[in-house]
Formats: sequence, structure tokens, C-alpha cells
Amino acid sequence: MLSHDLPKQLFEAIKERWGRDVLEIQSNHEKIRTYHGKQTGFSTDYAAGVHLILLADYLDLNGISFGTPIDNTWLKKGRKFRDFSETWHWKYWKDQFARAGLHLVMPINHISEAGALRICEQSDLIDVINSCLRGKGTEYCGKCWKCFHKNGPLGRDINPQSNEIQNFLTKMPLRTAQHALWAIQLMQLEHLVPHLSDEFNQSLHWWEHAYLPGLELIQDPWKTVVEERTRKFLPIMERPQLLHQVDLFPDIPF
Ligand SMILES: [Zn+2]
Repeated sequence: MLSHDLPKQLFEAIKERWGRDVLEIQSNHEKIRTYHGKQTGFSTDYAAGVHLILLADYLDLNGISFGTPIDNTWLKKGRKFRDFSETWHWKYWKDQFARAGLHLVMPINHISEAGALRICEQSDLIDVINSCLRGKGTEYCGKCWKCFHKNGPLGRDINPQSNEIQNFLTKMPLRTAQHALWAIQLMQLEHLVPHLSDEFNQSLHWWEHAYLPGLELIQDPWKTVVEERTRKFLPIMERPQLLHQVDLFPDIPF
């Protein structure tokens, strides 16, 4: 069963520590797909924003931000570089939002999951930031894939021998591939994935750094503040060609 206790704990902390309003809207929107014989889930990448789109006039919004990292912007399915600014996805959805009078804002399109973790580490909310959806109450499970690649690299206890983690580690193509490889190398767990040994010939430390060309996709007035904060929290990729060269498991079709 999925649990939202951990995100709720974060919302409470944002209200208490930062004194900010958090708007929570009850919804069973992910059920709509089941009316069409499909599994429960979001119908598109931006379905989670439906409530904000509908409330945009009421809240007087200029744009809506989504925390999509490099893994799903400049990389296709986390394993092959693409020029995101030229993709169907970016052009189509940017226009769809514009039709609703909104900017589609991607403030971390130039930052990987790893970079996002490094930023979270520097936040006073780090003790309540946790992506695990299988925990009990305020405890993360330590056994799911999210725990493996998000909690493990933060130095939190996980069990890499769990069924789910073992399944994901042996499945090809490796899910969230570039990020998972970084996490495996960082946690020195290469021995768990002998079939991937070729991928660890070089340090994957660069994956934590920011990819400056992505800033061009962020509209003003947000671009200025995002650039300022990016430079404050993260080093910039010195060799962006390492990202450009990402093409993992090219023999396996998408
Ligand atoms: Zn978990």
C-alpha cells in the first residue's frame, strides 16, 4: 500500500518552519484511467498539475512548476541524451500550458536526481524530506527502489538485498539508469551488479553537477533566481560532454 504520511510530514514542516501556506486538494483523479480499462495512475506527465490548472485564475497564477530533473528532460528515460529544447514533449506541453494562459516552468530541468539530493542535504528540511511511499507513519521502508537510489545516497540505512531492490538491479535495461549507476558507485555496491561492471570505468561524480544550458528553458522572472540558487548550491558541470555522451544499453530498444 502506498502511504502519503512522509510527504504530509514535509508539508507540515514547510508550514511550521517556513511559515508558508500549503494547499492540499483532495482528489481521486488517478482513478479516471480505470474508467477506460487502464490501471490506476496519472494519465499524463502533468496530470498531477490538474488541480492547480483549474485553480489558476483563483490563485492568480502566472505559471506552474514541475520538479522534472535531467533524468527525464535532457535524458530519454534516464539513459540517452537528447536535446530537450527540441523535443516534441517540451514543445507540445509548453504550448498546451500557454493555451491555458500559463507558463510551464521546469526549474530543475538542468539538475539531476543526484543534484537534487545534494540541494536537499543543504536544506533545513532535510530531516523530513523523504521520497519513500511504502513507509509506515514517519518511517521509510529501506527496501524499495526509491529508498535505494534516494535514501541510500543520503547515508540513510537501506537493505540492498530486499526483493524489490534486487529485482530492479538485475532487470535490463536498468531503470532510472544513469542515476542508479551513480548511486551504486557512490554506495560502493558495484559487487551487486557484475553485469554492469563496464559502466563504472569512470567516476560518475559529474552527475551531481548542474547543466547550464538547461537554464535557457526557464522563463523570466524565475530564471534569474534559479540561476542564482543553482550556483549557490551546486557546482556547474565542467565537462557537459559527459552528459551529451550518455547512451546506456543502446542495444535495448525504448
Ligand atoms: Zn522505501
